[in-house]
Amino acid sequence: MPEYQTSPGTRDILAPDSTRWRRLVEVFAEVVESAGFGQIIPPMFEDLGVFLRLGEATDIVTKEMYDFEDKGGRRVALRPEMTAGVVRAFVQHRPLLPWKAWYAGPNFRYEKAQQGRYRQFDQVGVEVLGVDDPHLDAEVISLAWEFYGRLGLRQVRLVVNSLGEPEDRSRYVDALRLHFSKDLAALSPESRQTLERNPLRVLDSKREQDAPLVAAAPVICDFYSADAAEHFASVLAGLDRLAIPYEVRPSLVRGLDYYRKTTFEFIGAALESSQNAVGGGGRYDGLVEDLGGPSTPGIGFALGVDRTLLECDAEGVFGAPATPVSVFVVDVTGGAEALTLTHDLRSAGIASDRAYEGRSMKSQMKAADRSGATFAIIIGGDELASGAVTVRPLAGQVGDDRTQSTIPRTELIPMLKRVLPS
Ligand code: AMP
Repeated sequence: MPEYQTSPGTRDILAPDSTRWRRLVEVFAEVVESAGFGQIIPPMFEDLGVFLRLGEATDIVTKEMYDFEDKGGRRVALRPEMTAGVVRAFVQHRPLLPWKAWYAGPNFRYEKAQQGRYRQFDQVGVEVLGVDDPHLDAEVISLAWEFYGRLGLRQVRLVVNSLGEPEDRSRYVDALRLHFSKDLAALSPESRQTLERNPLRVLDSKREQDAPLVAAAPVICDFYSADAAEHFASVLAGLDRLAIPYEVRPSLVRGLDYYRKTTFEFIGAALESSQNAVGGGGRYDGLVEDLGGPSTPGIGFALGVDRTLLECDAEGVFGAPATPVSVFVVDVTGGAEALTLTHDLRSAGIASDRAYEGRSMKSQMKAADRSGATFAIIIGGDELASGAVTVRPLAGQVGDDRTQSTIPRTELIPMLKRVLPS
């Protein structure tokens, strides 16, 4: 075993998986850019204070953050999620409203590493600042839905909820605290701790011991103000209009403290239940103000790239694409011709590769076959002397016709442009 390996919870993504990864981001960009979103590339680390605004009761802040003092004595943290940094950027640059931003990139959380749960994981996502219209909630959800659809996923389910206005939410939290406190002994020790920090999260407990109390807990919809109830009804009506199926799940509270009104999660059918959320999001309130900006409504989602690809594997869709070169240059005259010819081909937009170190014809032809190229371009002594090249179709590429032809080198690029798919 080599002395150095990837650190726990991190992975190398090699080709062709890395190609698939990039394509996924391209598909996402197409979907959201067709809806007026522009990309933001925020830094991967920020002043610790930016993330502390996510809330003291949030595990990713209190337990999982990669924070440290840099050499200049500044407290910084690797981002555990994207929203805080994007909102910080909004407050710093004050773009025109509504501001529709999308992003892609890694986040860092010190979690217990397992399949589908990593310490460095990627997300694609969006944030919209400055719009309170429930149509936007439906639109934002529909973009994630469209994205999963374009990947070919058919088994992702959407669950939605509303946490009401901040006041509704705090009345609900009080009611939950009261409910769970009445029978503390029946709660698991872990949930008793959670109750102190954030009663909402007790609803997330998957422990059997907690199930009866969780099932009997008050439900958020009984606490909605008229406005919050109307907002949620409009969001659901919007989803109905778009024919996006959903399940309303009153226990869906999501991890972060700042959510209000609409929250939603996308559940992958094929993943294990503790890691089956392939994405999620919601409205947030107060975050822009907390970071020094004016009171501004916001909504967004983040979709986990790693888990989405696991779901793709499980559903057998969006496989890793092959990216073969078009031609493979076999030069048995020393290699200098291959140097110039591959250069000329690439300049003309024709993907080409070659062998090195003056290998034998047989070994170079083997490499040409392995490359998946459509043609081998062979330069031997005769070709070199007469300024020609021999074009040989490779196995499985052009039917069974393996006839090769020798043509003047000046005709090679125009001929390839005619016959290769553009
Ligand atoms: P969250 O910000 O926790 O709601 O995460 C949004 C999405 O990011 C989740 O639905 C997951 O798909 C993904 N995600 C969150 N944490 C991890 C992790 N540790 N490893 C892999 N994916 C993650």
